Amino acid sequence: MKRRESGSGQRRISPTNNRQSGVNIMKILITGGAGYIGSHTCLTLLEEGHEICVVDNLVNSKEAPLARVQEITGRHLDFQRVDLTQKERLRRVFAAHSFEGIIHFAGLKAVGESAVMPLPYYRNNICGTLVLLELMQAYGVKNLVFSSSATVYGEPESVPIRETAAVGPTNPYGRTKLMIEYILKDLYQSDPEFNIAILRYFNPVGAHGSGRIGEDPNDIPNNLMPFISQVAVGKQPRLSVFGSDYPTPDGTGVRDYIHVMDLAAGHGCALEKLCQNPGVVTYNLGTGRGYSVLEMIAAFERVSGRPIPYQLVDRREGDIAVCYADPALAEQDLGWRAKRGIEEMCTDVWRWQSANPNGYE
Ligand code: NAD
Ligand code: UDP
Repeated sequence: MKRRESGSGQRRISPTNNRQSGVNIMKILITGGAGYIGSHTCLTLLEEGHEICVVDNLVNSKEAPLARVQEITGRHLDFQRVDLTQKERLRRVFAAHSFEGIIHFAGLKAVGESAVMPLPYYRNNICGTLVLLELMQAYGVKNLVFSSSATVYGEPESVPIRETAAVGPTNPYGRTKLMIEYILKDLYQSDPEFNIAILRYFNPVGAHGSGRIGEDPNDIPNNLMPFISQVAVGKQPRLSVFGSDYPTPDGTGVRDYIHVMDLAAGHGCALEKLCQNPGVVTYNLGTGRGYSVLEMIAAFERVSGRPIPYQLVDRREGDIAVCYADPALAEQDLGWRAKRGIEEMCTDVWRWQSANPNGYE
């Protein structure tokens, strides 16, 4: 028997249509909206006309990007500093709003750290999601876009990777993503009123073209692009290239880098898809094109005019040789395709990094 925790009836999407843009305007809760991908998505969705409330505990972010998003768009968003695992705090947010859809970015994401301290990763990512889903059910909010990752595929049998490929994450972080995917599918089986878009991101990079918001890692960056840009701006002396003996054209790892603004647009398309009551759908968000580490260094040097000193070192444990998406399903079903190439990705990162050498500080 279904039990509701509030007196509210079930809320399906009853969006208002923005005639000019053709977009269905919704009231959206964005968890983790102060983070890197979340802040760019808030900007895109505000520009599309949606109403937004962000919940974030700021464990890996600051409030500054949300202020800048409001400056850039000239629109207001509601921000609540709430940890998703604190159910009563989150319940108050649900009680105060009538959400029509939720985009769930909040989570811990550092692969290496997840191997060193798996329990906080499982607690935060899984328990946070369970609390969110319980409240969605209680308040009859049944439309969800979830941030998954290409890491659920682990070592791919072949590339490009389709959504039907075997899954098998090789680290605790990736396993939290896959477990949440299973939880979402089970939830839908038990309650087919849910509509859920699982988005498997490849390698998000880039920044908004204004140079006002971008990626701002707390410590020494783990990921390639923020590391390169910190070398370019003089914050790191040189890049370590992890592995030069992979079976790739130049021996370095190949990944599918996708501009964060293309990714943000994908969330708008996924929300539109939920209006068609699709049930659970899973899409790769990537470009379909892979670049090696050395190609990324060369592209960044070209656009920034700065040298990127690097040294070839041993492979990083857990890394795979090649990973890139087959993004055809997202194009076919969502009408979404990544538009920005490698030059624009590097140009936008450089604009952000050179204008904000210390990030949001
Ligand atoms: P991010 O760390 O910048 O953003 C995540 C946000 O969630 C942060 O602002 C953090 O403070 C918040 N958060 C974490 N735990 C929370 C909790 N319990 N309650 C409330 N807020 C909490 O990361 P991002 O790069 O913007 O990634 C967003 C999502 O996309 C994450 O779920 C991540 O796993 C996923 N993803 C990211 C990448 C990537 O390379 N950036 C790739 C694939 C998937
Ligand atoms: N990489 C590297 N040096 C770094 C960080 C990353 O050579 O300091 C390489 C890494 O081995 C991989 C690619 O860059 O081949 C992308 O790594 P990232 O951590 O950005 O993404 P992921 O490993 O999650 O695909």
